[in-house]
Amino acid sequence: MIEFKQTSLVYPNGTQGLKNINLKINEGEFVVIVGLSGAGKSTLIRSMNRLVTPTEGELLIDDENILSFNQRKLRELRTKVGMIFQNYNLVKRSTVMKNVISGRLGHTGTLKSLLSLYSQEDLALAHRSLKRVNITEKMHQRADQLSGGQQQRVAIARVLTQQPKIILADEPVASLDPPTSHQVMTYLRKVNQEDKITTIVNLHFIDMAMEYADRIIGMRAGEVVFDGPASEVTEET
Ligand code: ADP
Ligand code: ADP
Repeated sequence: MIEFKQTSLVYPNGTQGLKNINLKINEGEFVVIVGLSGAGKSTLIRSMNRLVTPTEGELLIDDENILSFNQRKLRELRTKVGMIFQNYNLVKRSTVMKNVISGRLGHTGTLKSLLSLYSQEDLALAHRSLKRVNITEKMHQRADQLSGGQQQRVAIARVLTQQPKIILADEPVASLDPPTSHQVMTYLRKVNQEDKITTIVNLHFIDMAMEYADRIIGMRAGEVVFDGPASEVTEET
């Protein structure tokens, strides 16, 4: 369902972000990308919802080459492909509930979102999402009053409200302490299993990758240097 075909990306300043990537990611997989800082993990993740655009090759999602998408198709793509960031990217002064229901924006269109007119269905979905990451009791608090782990759970609830087919998580636990990191990874894994959402996560730590991933992709200098199940990861990789 996601396929990189000889995909490369060169940034405007000449830095090679991705180098001839060939990869297939199947529906429902939980893939963790590991590698040192600067290896290209973030570039790989961000190319899948066109936050960055590869300069060569193809990138197919559900058999469509997203590299040739126009603005309308990109909006559709970003509804289908949800994103989670290291720094949560919540609207800090908005309530948790407002943040979570904003996940529906892609579905409801701009007029409705401007008027903040959400349907009962949107509200029900937002409530359900909050419950799934166990953060309902914080619903009326401002996002910036929550701890980092709680904010990342709100970000997961927001992405669930969007009902994506794919979730991309770019270093989702890099700002969190180990116990909180495990909690966030457990929620991501649970959602992946319950809803069969294809999930691709960047992580710094191989130990954590091995604990959660079906499949680990190792990157170095813009290239894929390892691709296999966690059980095949060895010392050298
Ligand atoms: P990682 O996520 O593994 O740390 P990145 O994908 O962020 O790696 O970066 C891969 C390479 O591309 C690095 O050399 C980085 O400095 C470079 N890079 C990332 N973003 C940009 C950018 N916007 N412009 C130029 N170079 C970039
Ligand atoms: P990461 O945590 O993914 O490694 P960085 O701290 O390297 O991110 O980069 C932060 C931001 O700066 C990103 O938006 C990235 O695209 C951009 N960036 C990274 N490296 C470069 C670079 N060499 N030139 C320009 N922008 C860069």
